Amino acid sequence: MLVALTTVHTLLLCLVLVRPIARPLLALLIVATAFATYYMQRFGIYLDPTMLRNVLKTDPAEAGELFGWGMLPHLLLFAGLPLLVLWRVRLKPQRWARAMAWRLATFAASVALLVGSLLLVFQDFSAQMRNQKDVRYLITPANFIYSATRVATDSLQEAQAARTPIGVDARLDGYWSSRTKPALLVLAIGETARAANWGLNGYARQTTPQLATRDVINFRDVTACGTNTETSLPCMFAAVGRRDYDERRIRTSESLLHVLNRAGFQVLWRDNQSGCKGVCDGLPTQQLDKAAFPEWCDGGRCLDEALLQGLDTVVRDAKGNLVVVLHMLGNHGPAYFKRYPDAFRRYTATCDTGELRQCTRDEIVNAYDNALLYTDHVLAKTIDFLQSQTSRFDTALVYVSDHGESLGEKGLYLHGVPFAIAPDEQTKVPMTWWLSPGYVASFGLDTACLKRAAANPQTHDNLFHTALGLLQVRASEYEPSLDITRTCRR
Ligand SMILES: [Zn+2]
Repeated sequence: MLVALTTVHTLLLCLVLVRPIARPLLALLIVATAFATYYMQRFGIYLDPTMLRNVLKTDPAEAGELFGWGMLPHLLLFAGLPLLVLWRVRLKPQRWARAMAWRLATFAASVALLVGSLLLVFQDFSAQMRNQKDVRYLITPANFIYSATRVATDSLQEAQAARTPIGVDARLDGYWSSRTKPALLVLAIGETARAANWGLNGYARQTTPQLATRDVINFRDVTACGTNTETSLPCMFAAVGRRDYDERRIRTSESLLHVLNRAGFQVLWRDNQSGCKGVCDGLPTQQLDKAAFPEWCDGGRCLDEALLQGLDTVVRDAKGNLVVVLHMLGNHGPAYFKRYPDAFRRYTATCDTGELRQCTRDEIVNAYDNALLYTDHVLAKTIDFLQSQTSRFDTALVYVSDHGESLGEKGLYLHGVPFAIAPDEQTKVPMTWWLSPGYVASFGLDTACLKRAAANPQTHDNLFHTALGLLQVRASEYEPSLDITRTCRR
């Protein structure tokens, strides 16, 4: 395999490497490969197109947390040393005929070596490639070159295509005929919170003490659509979802929010992250103004409580029905310790660096759980706010996380393992609802029935149709069988 992979790279370089660009191109590849292998080895990630898209779309604050002095030895060895060799190689100009002959000979020798080496391991190799397709995304630098090219061409096509409208026939229906109050739904989109550590799911630690004292509906078995934000976020707001997964279709279609907007809801996306990934295109958005909330924001990042600041004004000025999306920073890693204020540093000792390998597993889990405690606090505060608005609105909160996280299980850290082979830690997420008594009454919901439904397995695929059900919006995209609330009406 070593010979085969080396010759594959030689072959590819033979096609593009000419003298004027040889040195800069090789230098670039060497440095990029050193970075790539660092993260692959540290976190067990695969550089497939999805992961590359995720990497390329992060904002500087997010990326900054992934750099640290701990990378230096790896970079010196795997970039510094090869660069030194590269710098010392002298490139001699040759007549083109001779150069051509050399190149052809190299090409032919590489092909022979490649075929020969593959024949030796063919049976194992072909079985491996059939059964574990994703291992090819461990071949570096071919993996990131291929993935980056795919992302670039896909993005270009997506940018050219106008989003396909959905829900063009959306309208308020059913229980709306007898309603008096407008509805206010807060959709809190969590980040990197995993089901296994969610207190309400029966985790050994009570990481959700405040939600536990409120009358919430907790879904114990929810599967995410992807293992990273770039995949999950557009997917969970799409009508098609994972069951019929088509990334291109999802990225070029409008989302749940556009459907609700067509049905007459005022929609607002409040973001404490790297944007809505196209889900809120053309709809009102608020990126947190870091300067405005010194109490919550520091060093380019804000704590999630900042998302609640000014929400009262938004609600006060609302005319009619309102849906507010709070895009949380949640448990975004690897710097979990930065995701909560000191008051929530309840489990100690914590891992106080982004270099997870320098910490023990307990320290990593402690920091991660503290961040969950803080999410619990933010959600409880949101519920209390919604409670205070019940004289004007029928209010509800739906919280769901975008994907989970590996905290060292099976040697994996962070998230983004290809969905087909991803462990439960990365795909199982918490989902928790709170419905005001007024909401339950005027939408004719049966909470006991919903609590029973919450014990059944659900997925992100349910979100689109359940939101339409919860808000009694009818549209041709609505599939009743995926609406969790459908069988729980009085
Ligand atoms: Zn995410």
